[in-house]
Amino acid sequence: MKLNRKRYLFICLVCFIAMSIGLVIYTSLNRQQGLNIILITIDSLRSDHLGCYGYKRNTSPNIDKLVEEGVMFTQAISQASWTPQSLTSLLTATYPSTHKIYDFGSVLYEELITLPGILKKKRYTTVAVSAGLIKRFPGFEREFDNFFDMDEKIGDSIENLIRWIGHFKHKKFFAWVHFFSAHSPYKPPYPFNEMFKEKSNKTSKHIPIGNGKEPNIIPNWVAIDRITDVNYYISQYDGAIAYTDFYIGKLLDKLKILGLDKDTLIILTSDHGESIGEHDYYFQHGFLYDQLLKAPLIIKGPGITKGKVINKQVKLIDIMPTILAFLKIKVNNKIEGVDLLPLIYDDNNYTGNEYVFSETFDCDKLNLKSIRTPEWKLIYNIGLDKYELYNLKIDPEEITNLVDIDKEKFIFLKTKLEKWMNRPKPNIIPPTKPLDENTKRNLRYLGYLQ
Ligand SMILES: [Zn+2]
Repeated sequence: MKLNRKRYLFICLVCFIAMSIGLVIYTSLNRQQGLNIILITIDSLRSDHLGCYGYKRNTSPNIDKLVEEGVMFTQAISQASWTPQSLTSLLTATYPSTHKIYDFGSVLYEELITLPGILKKKRYTTVAVSAGLIKRFPGFEREFDNFFDMDEKIGDSIENLIRWIGHFKHKKFFAWVHFFSAHSPYKPPYPFNEMFKEKSNKTSKHIPIGNGKEPNIIPNWVAIDRITDVNYYISQYDGAIAYTDFYIGKLLDKLKILGLDKDTLIILTSDHGESIGEHDYYFQHGFLYDQLLKAPLIIKGPGITKGKVINKQVKLIDIMPTILAFLKIKVNNKIEGVDLLPLIYDDNNYTGNEYVFSETFDCDKLNLKSIRTPEWKLIYNIGLDKYELYNLKIDPEEITNLVDIDKEKFIFLKTKLEKWMNRPKPNIIPPTKPLDENTKRNLRYLGYLQ
């Protein structure tokens, strides 16, 4: 009986050791099968307000450091300048008129493949960190295993994410972090609210506070203490970028401490930019001018040349196929973005993305489409049946409409745009879900609902 018991204990011990060795081998193999992915998106961040893109203020010391360790794209074009449309495009690699998720009430339907959905099938653990507004994108919740709200205190949410990463560091993970702090109304906490405030307001411009999305007003949802000084709001926008950058630095530092920085592909971008006076619109988005479409795009990962700057035009919907190509994951379903690895590895011989399209569909009034080449942009306002043609090389601010001057270029781009608009698209109308009171309150705060 005693012998049997000893033998039993011995067998248990052997089994335990075998299982432990198996677990170590499994974990090691699992780590080798793929990298971790961290996708950082900063709402309403225009690239030209970052130090690495040439901005005069030191808004982004940590993002600038990331650029030194990866590649930076100077012509990354968003497919929409409206949050739900652009973010859905980013996570599905399709244009808004393909996925048709135009507003916060549209439900992300089953047939739409998403980046986190694909990675989940490849045994990635997925997490989203964002304001509850994104969580309340109906259908998005099924794409993520975990969700951390980032409603008020960014620090708490980043701490939660860091703890989560520490917990899952032996598994492959995909983390999407969406910062809302640079979205209007801009209210960075101290000291970021003081950081860029100008001592003298002699050069400042004052414009009235008004209702709605009209030109030459500070929209009422943006206004703070009835202040009408434009420079004040720009200082707060820049402070909000610095506030976001501070926590991006914390996250990246922690990755290094955990020894994960070399095993992690990091992508940083925004969903769209912000108009801060261009075309007479203040602290709003929704148009298709370059201040709204040009997003930062930085990619850092194993094998990617450090400190490289790529000036060729790319799309934000190229991010998902690039991540999947990096992980050697093939997608059968139709996506509209392209893999950027050939460009990252050899930008001299790359000829893709000659024409890039963007669109914004604001149910109330705006229905815009655009086609962009590295030199030209044509914007079509469907509601007004009007076109704007700009030469971006000599007129980057898009001031002089050349529709009646360069007829040949206008017809050429109009034909290309129409062909793209008439491309075959899935015949799906996403279901909608009524918004709850909490979501409506959030949307009013951010200016999406009046
Ligand atoms: Zn947005």
